Amino acid sequence: MLLGAPTAKRHVVAALDAARAAEVTPPASAVVDDALVRLAGEAQRGLVGVLNGTGVLLHTNLGRAPLAAAALDAIAAAAGGASNLEFDLTTGTRGSRYERLDALLRAVTGAEASLVVNNCAAAVLLVLDTFARAPDGSAREVIVARGQLVEIGGGFRLPDVLARSGARLVEVGATNKVRIADYAHALSPRTALLMRAHPSNYRIEGFTEDVTAPELVALGARAGVPVIEDLGSGALEDVRPYGLPGERTVAEAVSDGVDLVTFSADKLLGGPQAGIIAGRRAAIARLRANPLLRALRVGSVTIAALGATLRLHVEGTVREQIPLYRMLATPIDALRARAEALVARVDGLDVHVAGHEGYAGGGTLPLAPLPSIALAWRPADGDVNAAAARLRAGDPPVVARIDGDAVAIDLRTIPPARDADLAAALLAAAR
Ligand SMILES: *Cc1c(COP(=O)(O)O)cnc(C)c1O
Repeated sequence: MLLGAPTAKRHVVAALDAARAAEVTPPASAVVDDALVRLAGEAQRGLVGVLNGTGVLLHTNLGRAPLAAAALDAIAAAAGGASNLEFDLTTGTRGSRYERLDALLRAVTGAEASLVVNNCAAAVLLVLDTFARAPDGSAREVIVARGQLVEIGGGFRLPDVLARSGARLVEVGATNKVRIADYAHALSPRTALLMRAHPSNYRIEGFTEDVTAPELVALGARAGVPVIEDLGSGALEDVRPYGLPGERTVAEAVSDGVDLVTFSADKLLGGPQAGIIAGRRAAIARLRANPLLRALRVGSVTIAALGATLRLHVEGTVREQIPLYRMLATPIDALRARAEALVARVDGLDVHVAGHEGYAGGGTLPLAPLPSIALAWRPADGDVNAAAARLRAGDPPVVARIDGDAVAIDLRTIPPARDADLAAALLAAAR
């Protein structure tokens, strides 16, 4: 990052002031070092790119899915100037931003209609706010299985979001077991929705029983109550060819007859932060009419990136073009070859090639480790925490994991094109 002269001056003055205020006047070199530390801190103050060496592909703290080149190009093309965000180029009149992605979303989900909002939490909030509030403002009921009342990262707790929306939560079943009869008994004239939620980041195993989506849809149809499914991770296609366990796809939920499916755009879809609602036309129309939508809407940067990413799904070029899938598809031998070349590059450091376990992350597939390869660095002074901190303070910052007496840098989550930067960052952190 380029810092201007006024910024440089401010930090040099601050370093000099600190030196003057010190009880023992530091040597000039210490003042220079202090100024450099202050400037490095300034350069990291905003949003900066980092090398993700954690092996967690969808790391929420590190920005989840990296965007495809086509998505970055689309942002530059549409957001660097004016766009047809809310303008119909055919008629020359006002259009709707929600129309821009509707055809692509219908193509990848099989749904009748769609809506894009700020994130999946906003999608769930909008659905609940729209359906679970009676015309007189009083709360209506949402029936959810007790085992699905999830909290995912970042403080998204389904019961809290339900409370926010003014809905009344009706829990059914036990933590490990729920049957369709539990839902049926809980139905009342005040029931607004039957809800299914993906228990994204945990599994209940052993003595369990669950209700399938088609069973719930059949019950909803008999009772005249819509069914919503919060899928979260939003796989658009089968992820098993990538060595991941089967993950329910959006198209499966839609074809099961679920009225509204909510999911994130920056998890298994591999796009920008956004929340997508796919489902029945009439239900989506009700969402569009909710004034709350105005507060949850996305802008041209998101629409451009999401449109380009969805296009890659439609065209079937996901494996080659979407970084998430490219990373997933990288054979372990390719990672090992990169690791060996890197070890040669950082000659003199105690770095070796080690097996490692990565994860999909992003609240998806928590129990599926991804076999991977890491650089394992044993710093000369044995202080792995300090070494990891120096890597984070570098340019580019490298986020690593601590693995016993070594700092582990997983290569699956670092683009091969950045290997030279990684080697330089390692050498700098070792000095
Ligand atoms: C990740 C997730 C969310 C929240 O998604 P955001 O896009 O981060 O708001 C909601 N529900 C489920 C089931 C999830 O996995």
